[in-house]
Amino acid sequence: MALATNLGYPRIGPERELKHATESYWKGELSESALRATAAQLRQQAWSTQRQAGLDLIPCNDFSYYDHVLDAAVLVGAVPTRYGWPGGPVDLDTYFAMARGAQQEGLDVGAMEMTKWLDTNYHYIVPEFHSGQSFSVASSKVFEELDEAQAAGINAKPVLLGPISFMQLGKSKEPNFDALSSLLDPLVEVYAAVIQRLTTQGADWIQLDEPFLARDASSETLAVLERAYSRLAEAKGGARLIVQSYFGQVADAYPILRDLPVDAVGLDLVRGPENLELLARHGIPADKWLVAGVVDGRNVWITDLAKALDTLERVADILGGLERIMVAPSCSLLHVPIDKQREPEIDPELLSWLAFADQKLAEIVTLTRGLNEGRDAIDDALAENAAALGSRRKSERARNPLVRRRLAELDDSAARRGGAYGTRRIAQRAALGLPELLPTTSIGSYPQTAEVRRMRGRFRRGEISALEYQGFVESETRKVIELQEDIGLDVLVHGEFERTDMVEYFAQQIDGYAFTQLGWVQSYGSRYVRPPILYGDIHRPEPMTVHWFRFAQTLTDKPVKGMLTGPVTMLQWSFVRDDQPRSETCRQLALAVRDEVLDLEAAGAKVIQVDEPALREGLPLRRAAWKEYLDWAVGAFRLATGGVRDSTQIHTHMCYSEFNDIIEAIAAMDADVLLIENARSEAELLAVFRTFNYQNEIGPGVYDIHSPRVPPTEEMAEQLRASLGVLDREQIWVTPDCGLKTRTYEECVPALRNMVAAARRLRTEIRG
Ligand code: GLN
Ligand code: ZN
Repeated sequence: MALATNLGYPRIGPERELKHATESYWKGELSESALRATAAQLRQQAWSTQRQAGLDLIPCNDFSYYDHVLDAAVLVGAVPTRYGWPGGPVDLDTYFAMARGAQQEGLDVGAMEMTKWLDTNYHYIVPEFHSGQSFSVASSKVFEELDEAQAAGINAKPVLLGPISFMQLGKSKEPNFDALSSLLDPLVEVYAAVIQRLTTQGADWIQLDEPFLARDASSETLAVLERAYSRLAEAKGGARLIVQSYFGQVADAYPILRDLPVDAVGLDLVRGPENLELLARHGIPADKWLVAGVVDGRNVWITDLAKALDTLERVADILGGLERIMVAPSCSLLHVPIDKQREPEIDPELLSWLAFADQKLAEIVTLTRGLNEGRDAIDDALAENAAALGSRRKSERARNPLVRRRLAELDDSAARRGGAYGTRRIAQRAALGLPELLPTTSIGSYPQTAEVRRMRGRFRRGEISALEYQGFVESETRKVIELQEDIGLDVLVHGEFERTDMVEYFAQQIDGYAFTQLGWVQSYGSRYVRPPILYGDIHRPEPMTVHWFRFAQTLTDKPVKGMLTGPVTMLQWSFVRDDQPRSETCRQLALAVRDEVLDLEAAGAKVIQVDEPALREGLPLRRAAWKEYLDWAVGAFRLATGGVRDSTQIHTHMCYSEFNDIIEAIAAMDADVLLIENARSEAELLAVFRTFNYQNEIGPGVYDIHSPRVPPTEEMAEQLRASLGVLDREQIWVTPDCGLKTRTYEECVPALRNMVAAARRLRTEIRG
């Protein structure tokens, strides 16, 4: 019989209990034992939910206080020396110091680097490697959690990040040090010890996640995969090992994966439908199980159960029976909200199209039953599912003929600015009256102070009127305009005080979007986001930002920027409909942004910024798919911004990632001014401009806004000199790395003053 399983359950709690407990612990308001008690309760709750749903095999160690990659680092004792770990079990405070940095008696260390988990918006802590590094079992978390589950009557499946992905997702801290070739063997020894101990504890199945398999892998990496798992197979005793892939097809790795001396292979059949063909073509040894990921763990829509059963039946055909199949989500359910039943504000029709984690568990169990007992056994569920899918397909609410007609009528010229960049530049210089050299600006938001958040809360709860709230936002905006004039910035911003979030604020004013109350997913650590749900055609009924732009512009003679979130970022940070290609949805978003851009221009905006911080993150995991994505993503940005006059200056802003490998695509966006994160990467970014001739204007960030530190004038001047070394002096803008939302005025005002002083110092230097 096929089994129903899960790869990982959300760890944050239905009411964000984990966030509240960890943050209280950090503030010293909650004891470690109380934090541990909350965590234990959340795990019990997760297990009982999964048991009640009817799963046969339930994961453990999918819980994490912060991040599962950090858990893996701590498990194998990969603790950088600066955290002062004396050996032995890593305590909770060392663990949190690695995640967030620490400033206490005798210890002042920054956090470890954090980056995006493959192509998701979840961020993990990047393991560090150096030569001579040794590993040891330094955490008992996984053993304790298995104990705990067993005590609750569940012989759970411990989940570990696999050793190859652990190495691939980490970073060598020494130049020319090949961590994989020198450290993998000692690392695998520690994994072997962990597996042995889990076996002794009575674990039946153990899941090793190897998401690196969805990326392009070198033949060396695939060779070490074999070596590592052969060693782990020796250690497993009576337990059975699953090598679990997700987020896409495994491509060339399949034949190797298939022959690893393990007991099961996990494939994502949702994001990697090609995996089914690989399975059909290469088969699978007669003693091996297949974990078939048929329920989308990355999105919120109900599964087409009949179609998923087709897939499962095909799998059964290939395997020659039902004995060695596990029905599963395509990846951990960490990436979706917990329970749609807690969303009374979403109307019943739309709700019937949605499946959050708990609903996905039910789908998995239903599918398993349908596979084992035949479709008749689940005919009610199939009928209900077909009805919901039918209503979704036919629903008028998801369709807007006007939008479709307008997009069909647009020709290529819509995505092209009138004049070439050189012509635009002359028109913009004349229109804007900026300093000849090194104009200064900022990225958009100003500090979201406790006061701003308090007033927004009061407004939301109905404690103050719309008029009062509006008056408050006006006074904040006025203050920030005066402040920028006083600091001497050249292109001003209105401060974004009216916005909660750069996606939600727009989504709330666009038709085709729905919102949850409790639909949180972990972004990093205790930071959770509530991505809006894009379910239908995108239509912007009226201007979204013109009011606040206009208000701010009346307060100053300097240009104020219109400030928008770009179509790719809107797409990337939402749960997006899966009934049409993402590229098409992105075009609809681009049309909405285009309408707004033109309204801003008509309202007098001479500079309009369209932020695309998520452009890089949307890049497919495999290089072969990059071009197609970049073509439509860049096309969407150009459609959004291509309608303005030559004299209107388009800015864009990007952050959070490395851009060197997509610089050509960034240039193809043809923004007049590119404001790009740079301050922390030690001029890594600038290196690309030695070889790539970037034509338009560009502001490599000189102020790291992620730190409370105030950079001295000379330090920023030095960064500008570095930029001047590789770019034309006429090209360069002076700007912080990102918005100032998370900073305080005490921090950012002196920093901005220093930044303007640095620009002035360099102008004088250049003129000699
Ligand atoms: N304009 C936004 C801000 O300043 C940009 C945020 C971002 O890049 N993430 O906050
Ligand atoms: Zn940014």
